[in-house]
Amino acid sequence: MALREILVVPHPVLKQVSQPVEQVDDELRALMDDMLETMYDAPGIGLAAIQVGVPERILVIDLQRRITPVDDEGNEVEDEARDIREPQYFVNPEIVWESEEYGVYNEGCLSVPEMYGDVERPARVRVKWLGYDGAAHEEELDGLLATCLQHEMDHLDGILFVDHLSKLKRDMIMKKLTKARKGK
Ligand SMILES: [Zn+2]
Repeated sequence: MALREILVVPHPVLKQVSQPVEQVDDELRALMDDMLETMYDAPGIGLAAIQVGVPERILVIDLQRRITPVDDEGNEVEDEARDIREPQYFVNPEIVWESEEYGVYNEGCLSVPEMYGDVERPARVRVKWLGYDGAAHEEELDGLLATCLQHEMDHLDGILFVDHLSKLKRDMIMKKLTKARKGK
């Protein structure tokens, strides 16, 4: 496994539309392993292949369940909390249904470092995809997983979360990013 470079806005490749994967093979699995390692290292909870410069319809997501042990008195021991990894791989994901009900999350993105904004998306989605072994899946997702998946799927069509914000807010974020980069 190897770390890959994460492309950051305004890199033009991030605007590219990714192509469907023809076959889930060892080469593709090696890419997904790299993507996962890169995502953990960043750290983030989701990554699309285009973010490491590969224009193929592939995502990795890990919401990492946080386990906090309790002491004898039933108090949570924050110092001993740890995150359990639960990687999920989505090849050629396709939304086949979305709820009329919407949810709002304060989203961030590894390609738009340290910037956040509230984005409204369908609260639940039914998704079809191929897994790490190439097997077909179809499931209804909700909560953070539904949001994260829709955010990552946007990347496959060259869309960033800032594109869902008002022009004013988007311009503000881009200006801050440019300033931050100059400061380095
Ligand atoms: Zn993103």
